[in-house]
Amino acid sequence: MNLLAAVIGHPISHSLSPQVFSFIGESLGDNRLRYEALDVESQQLENFCQRLRKQSEGAQWLGLNVTIPHKESILFHLDELAPEVQALGAANVVKVMGERLRGYNTDVAGIEATLEKVGFVCHGKTILVVGAGGAARATVYACAKAGAQRIVVINRGVQRAQKLLDDLSAVFKSTEFSSVATVASIDAMADLVVQATPVGMVHYDDRMNGDRANPRSTGRASGSIDFSEIFRHCSRQALALDLIYRPEETLFLQEAQRASLRAVGGLTMFVSQALATWQIWFGPLSARTKEVLANDLTAYLRDILRFDSVTPVPRADCHRPIFLCGFMGVGKSAAGRILSQKLACPFFDLDALIVELAGKSIPQIFSEGGEIEFRRWESQALQDLLRRISAGGVCALGGGALISPENRRLIGQAGDLFYLKASPESLLERLASEWEERPLLNTSGDRITHLQNLLRAREPQYAEASVQIQTDKKSPSEVADGIIKILRSKVS
Ligand code: NAP
Repeated sequence: MNLLAAVIGHPISHSLSPQVFSFIGESLGDNRLRYEALDVESQQLENFCQRLRKQSEGAQWLGLNVTIPHKESILFHLDELAPEVQALGAANVVKVMGERLRGYNTDVAGIEATLEKVGFVCHGKTILVVGAGGAARATVYACAKAGAQRIVVINRGVQRAQKLLDDLSAVFKSTEFSSVATVASIDAMADLVVQATPVGMVHYDDRMNGDRANPRSTGRASGSIDFSEIFRHCSRQALALDLIYRPEETLFLQEAQRASLRAVGGLTMFVSQALATWQIWFGPLSARTKEVLANDLTAYLRDILRFDSVTPVPRADCHRPIFLCGFMGVGKSAAGRILSQKLACPFFDLDALIVELAGKSIPQIFSEGGEIEFRRWESQALQDLLRRISAGGVCALGGGALISPENRRLIGQAGDLFYLKASPESLLERLASEWEERPLLNTSGDRITHLQNLLRAREPQYAEASVQIQTDKKSPSEVADGIIKILRSKVS
């Protein structure tokens, strides 16, 4: 049985959550979870939540991560709220429990973990929070809970800031709260300043918040906060924390360093809240496992994030769809996801689209209708995909997607096809743990001979690709870099 989970938001292409959850699953040797990033606009949220309640055979929804702009509005569609969600009025994790949806907030735990890691104690301190959205609420909650003496919220939208303070001052009576709309009105010297707006986030443009159903949208471009002015209201020993983790080095952090403040980014928070999400869905991990996973995941994400600061591939190239083909287990999805992150365009997995369209897992399709039935769903899913990917994106194709000459023709017309190649020996190694679950592999007899035969039959179709990339001994990130290098050489 496949377990499904997704991060939902609008926009969503910047999200690293799919990589994070497949990394955690792989590290724990648990490959049950299929995790996607889904672009859900405000007006689609209600229907989407209804779909979660209707579980289909063979694929079971486990839960969601929720990001901008749904953290507050999702509450209207949930059946149960964890205590911190009730106090905060914002949820960023949903757990599907039969037909009921329960909301959680792991941002608080993420902020607490970050402050603990850098040794900042909130008790008795003055704290300045920039922004009044879901992340700002979690920050105010965590700081007030830890005994902050005074919290000042600065937000361009005064009413939203006031609502935040009204909600949380009712819970935390011994903290003094106030809000201001402009930097000039700040009348405090802060020990901690937390940047909780998307200003400075990679690919962020305030106009992206401008879907019709978002009444707070201003249509203004990003970069409209003068951080250096804010730092004038901080003590010399103050800590400057930016909740943004992408890029790792933000404008806010650069300005903080220029003002000689200690500066910390949002990566620790991101990693901690991802581990908290995993535990909500699957149950507790031991302290040691959490520590090891947090370190490994941070290193893995840093490897991805370092590309945010390098020259992007010219836009023209991102707009031509990229298809990755190759044998099962070669790493098309892992490399494809990282490639889409580096190119800042959407990622699609044809097998995941088939499961979504058919409402059944792949083994179930095979057991009910055999390979013919699977190929029928595959062709249908490809037609859908070609409509969705026409403005650009990366797609990992299933291992046999090119068997059909019609599929080959459509893919060849639509974009660039890259063949990810691997030796039978390394495929055998990569597929060992999932051999029994793969319908086309699960035969008796010598495995390597079986693989060689299948590969020999598929090679002529893969040879249609304009470029071949050797993947033996390469990480998914290195494979993605190889493709980017080829794209760059094509335009230079
Ligand atoms: P949100 O609920 O949409 O709130 C956004 C806030 O930013 C609002 O107060 C908004 O002001 C303000 N804002 C947006 N654009 C602005 C601009 N151009 N100038 C001034 N203020 C602006 O978003 P959120 O969920 O709180 O997330 C905020 C940030 O925290 C994001 O960058 C997100 O990536 C980051 N975050 C990081 C983590 C992590 O794990 N590291 C976790 C959660 C969030 P108005 O009310 O006036 O519109």
